[in-house]
Amino acid sequence: MRMSKLYMPTLREVPAEAEIPSHKLLLRAGMMRKLVSGVYSYLPLGYRVIKKIENVVREEMDRAGSQELLMSAIQPKELWEASGRWDNFGPEMFRLKDRNDREFCLGPTHEEYFTDLIKNEIKSYKQLPLNLYQIQTKYRDEKRPRFGVIRAREFIMKDAYSFDKDEEGMEKSYREMWEAYEKIFTRLRLKYKVVEGDSGAMGGNKSHEFMAMAETGEGVIAYCNNCDYAATNEKAKVVYEIKTKDEEEKDMEKVHTPDITTIDQLVEFFRSDKGNFGKALVYLASGEPIVVIIPGDRELNETKLCNYLKIPEHELEMADEETIIKVSGAKKGFTGPVGLREGTRLIIDSRITKMKNLIVGGNETDYHIKNVNYGRDFEGEIAEDLLLVEEGDICPKCGEPLYIARGIEVGNIFQLGTKYSTSLQATFLDEDGKEKPFVMGSYGVGVSRTMAAIVEQYHDEYGIIWPLVVTPYHVIITVINVKDEVQRDLGEKIYEELSNEGLEVLLDDRNERAGVKFNDRDLIGIPIRITVGKKANENIVEFSLRKEEGRIEIPTDKIMDNIR
Ligand code: ATP
Ligand code: MG
Ligand code: MG
Ligand code: MG
Repeated sequence: MRMSKLYMPTLREVPAEAEIPSHKLLLRAGMMRKLVSGVYSYLPLGYRVIKKIENVVREEMDRAGSQELLMSAIQPKELWEASGRWDNFGPEMFRLKDRNDREFCLGPTHEEYFTDLIKNEIKSYKQLPLNLYQIQTKYRDEKRPRFGVIRAREFIMKDAYSFDKDEEGMEKSYREMWEAYEKIFTRLRLKYKVVEGDSGAMGGNKSHEFMAMAETGEGVIAYCNNCDYAATNEKAKVVYEIKTKDEEEKDMEKVHTPDITTIDQLVEFFRSDKGNFGKALVYLASGEPIVVIIPGDRELNETKLCNYLKIPEHELEMADEETIIKVSGAKKGFTGPVGLREGTRLIIDSRITKMKNLIVGGNETDYHIKNVNYGRDFEGEIAEDLLLVEEGDICPKCGEPLYIARGIEVGNIFQLGTKYSTSLQATFLDEDGKEKPFVMGSYGVGVSRTMAAIVEQYHDEYGIIWPLVVTPYHVIITVINVKDEVQRDLGEKIYEELSNEGLEVLLDDRNERAGVKFNDRDLIGIPIRITVGKKANENIVEFSLRKEEGRIEIPTDKIMDNIR
């Protein structure tokens, strides 16, 4: 490709909303463009990267025995009503109506559709296992689209679905997909961790997430260096060290009775950790007020709380002041050790129940009670693991301290069991002549998100440093002065030769200053560089790699030796 003809609209300035390197660089390098929030176009260079990622995914999926097909993004409401997800998916689902008022969604994922597709065709255990996949555009009206294609509202996903006759078969399919994913992300040169995940909107019981390591990642991972424990923060468990009596007594000394006279102070108190039972947080869960108590100054994990309450995350919100006063009894109307109005749902992190001598109360001066014991003096619902795991928490598997790292979720595999086959009545006849629901798994790779994850791991202050496997072009030939006939001809000649070798080559034949060309080639991150300059008349060029500092002068007939 001649760069004089290439559609590569590079940018000097990027919009302020681009916070992280991949977002900035993919825009600056003219690889993608935003249409509206969370909706992007892939321009020629970026689209070549996307296609290369897709092909790695395709090769490994095919090799693992999955078969590619392509389904529609438009899905009828009825399918989603059958699984219960028309309501449960919430506002993340893009919904639309046709001219006859029939309702549809733009698929955020395809469990229902695949189950429906095969249910009338696969009738016997003899046709199982079956594994199908597609690489397709997904739609999710994300609450907060950000980081470019990392959290987009339209994005490319590879999604696969396995159908087995029993649990054992499903576990084997799951294992095979896991291995295929390891091959995919290794080939894509990503540094990643596989972590126990939360099943979230997919349902089912077991899942693993493939996290590309990146400080800018939204995913928080707790992992152990001593054993193989690794989980998302939503899934990770904390093993508590119960405090010694001495420590507890010291804590008690710190307790003071708050002097609360205004609503603001009350709210402040409820949201703080002045009493050593920890934080009392007032929420509205599906509109109903609840009070949650967690120990000390820890952070509450809202995802875990939603899982406990069995509500989607958008149905959980912080209560307003009025509600806080209502449930706490505010000034007067104090009803018990935790200062709750009778009937208010109280949820207590399990650790609280292990602590002795709590201080509770706290909506008015002197309304504190010391030496309260859970079970003796007050009760609530006990929820396990409502906390975010922190660095230094104890590994639930081996007892060593845990580490925390951040990552980008590039893949997710789920053991679904019979959730969708049961609700959509998708059954087959088993060996024993009985009708049984398919045992399913589903497996996603965020193809467009992976492009950005690679850039997060492979860049420097000047631009992208593409790994060879996904680079839009392998080689870039920069002709320093295109008005110099000798230089121009030599550039063309090398371009011809390398292209004939099967390499994908960019020829920078633009009539621009050398500095502009060098900046652009750093920015777009082509791995192998050849510079044709003053020594063109001696058939000597400069050879360098994007990822390394050095450069060497070589005769043109030695170029291929250096590339190999
Ligand atoms: P996240 O936790 O980031 O919201 P998810 O768990 O909701 O992702 P899945 O339902 O597991 O996503 O979808 C499979 C894969 O699709 C994810 O692992 C991710 O790589 C990709 N993906 C999900 N949401 C988006 C998005 N909004 N933009 C780009 N890729 C996405
Ligand atoms: Mg999501
Ligand atoms: Mg996720
Ligand atoms: Mg996921």
